[in-house]
Amino acid sequence: MPLLHAFDAYPAFFVTAVVVLSLAIGSFLNVVIHRLPKMLERQWRAELAEFEGREPAAAPRYNLVVPRSQCPACGHPIGALENIPLVSYLVLGGKCAACKARISPRYPLVEALTGALSGYIAWRFGFSWTTAAALVFAWAMIALAFIDLDTFYLGRAARQSLRRVHHAALRGDRRGSGLPCALGGVLGLQARDRP
Ligand SMILES: [Zn+2]
Repeated sequence: MPLLHAFDAYPAFFVTAVVVLSLAIGSFLNVVIHRLPKMLERQWRAELAEFEGREPAAAPRYNLVVPRSQCPACGHPIGALENIPLVSYLVLGGKCAACKARISPRYPLVEALTGALSGYIAWRFGFSWTTAAALVFAWAMIALAFIDLDTFYLGRAARQSLRRVHHAALRGDRRGSGLPCALGGVLGLQARDRP
């Protein structure tokens, strides 16, 4: 394929293509960061209702695609032209096109961060499978980091795993293994720092 040969032959062209694609990915990551925790919360509430034998509350469909993005202040649906990564934010001066409510600078920040990091990866590893794997990893990390910033879900999950390691280590100690216990003790202390 000529395009693949061009990616291989002209690294600058490849990096540019990756940056452009990644800006769009960054835009999608904003949706993931905003909606994934809400989707999880809905799922947990539904599971709790089922566990308690209650009928789960009826709610309109909500996933990464539905409903379409809208201004949180006035409900104005965000059209394709208002959704161009970085460009739309700059053109609109960081305000909703309809009600002029301020749009969080975090949206363009996530897009710029995704574009810059992806561009660096493409430049560093070139047109290769390493780049493909590193990009997917970087995108997932950006989403998880910002979700954790908002919700602390990640930190909570990490602390729960640490507690499990700690308990496993304590069980190990009863059978006479000192090192896992010491390790678990350290991890456990850290886990207890933030209840
Ligand atoms: Zn608005």
